[in-house]
Amino acid sequence: MSKAQRSESTAQDSQVKAQGSYFRPEIEAMTGYVPGEQPRGGGVVKLNTNENPYPASPKVAEAIRETLDRGLGRYPNSMGQPFREAAAEVLGVPPNWVLCGNGSDDILTIVTRAFVGPGQLLRLPYPSYILYKTLAQLQGARSEEVRFDANWALGDDFAAAGDDLRLVFLPNPNSPSGTVLPPERILEIARQLPCPLLVDEAYADFAETNCMHLVEQEEKILVSRTMSKSYALAGLRFGYVVGQPHIIEQLVKVKDSYNCDALAIAGAAAALRDREWLAENRAKILATRQRLTDGMRQLGFVTVDSQANFTWNTHPEQPLQPLYEGLKQHGFLVRYMNYPGWSDGLRISVGTDEQIETVLQLLEGMLESQAADY
Ligand SMILES: *Cc1c(COP(=O)(O)O)cnc(C)c1O
Repeated sequence: MSKAQRSESTAQDSQVKAQGSYFRPEIEAMTGYVPGEQPRGGGVVKLNTNENPYPASPKVAEAIRETLDRGLGRYPNSMGQPFREAAAEVLGVPPNWVLCGNGSDDILTIVTRAFVGPGQLLRLPYPSYILYKTLAQLQGARSEEVRFDANWALGDDFAAAGDDLRLVFLPNPNSPSGTVLPPERILEIARQLPCPLLVDEAYADFAETNCMHLVEQEEKILVSRTMSKSYALAGLRFGYVVGQPHIIEQLVKVKDSYNCDALAIAGAAAALRDREWLAENRAKILATRQRLTDGMRQLGFVTVDSQANFTWNTHPEQPLQPLYEGLKQHGFLVRYMNYPGWSDGLRISVGTDEQIETVLQLLEGMLESQAADY
């Protein structure tokens, strides 16, 4: 190729790029997932992303410090083996049934990439975790939302075969509702489906039931968990999925070689082993959840019975966005969510008793002053 030709093709390239075709069309067409606000600096009480108001087990920092003392010069175990061994002890699932992830969002990405190809179909319930839809878009795949009924149950259309249906996501407990489908129903759904069902148990530690025992009974069931919520380790980034070993074996091919770092593996394993810490933390959250639920209902909200560490609140008369804004002005950040075709609502994470008491007082004040305006 002559010099002149070369410069010509370069000029052509840059013309093409100027027209905006650096990216795959599906990437340019999508909006991207928008995480809940993470304000910098102090002074804000965060009740918007379901983090835990209490600190993690002190054993976590201890394990991280020991790992640091040994140095970070070596790559970590690529399968997060120390965590898998902790999971085997605590959850009773053999290590090769567990795949570790850099947060459970990493797990959801791996699972989507492994099962759903371009043009194929991914199903999710509505309203639920919006990230699932984004994951389908990234794959160039189609997604289909099946609506919950008025009691937050799912009909048989959720379990029906679909046009090239490859994967179904189900958060259980669900977000934003905090409601739970019973394990028997989930097994029934999985048995009807032609494809895997990932049960996203991000909030299962706050619930009365979970689906971990179903993995053994049904190869189509995968159960994902996170250390972000019940273990108060959202900043550490660690999650995992449990599935039958022949499924896990295939998922391993899709993940980054070293998707979890040495500090996170050590910290997460230590957290999982501290059962007493989890039980105490859970008991506090459940007690405060009840106060929040009762308090909101007394203020006239319709509050769903929650099995997670947040509640979903609607109001028959009051517009909710001004209440969200008002709370924010007082330094309390909750989540205002609007689901087209469903309803809007306030999702409030369970904080400490004191924080929740203040939120209830602020809401009461705002509702009274609005009533006085009429
Ligand atoms: C918080 C959340 C996750 C993400 O957990 P990470 O481990 O922090 O990535 C997954 N699914 C649902 C439904 C969640 O609410």
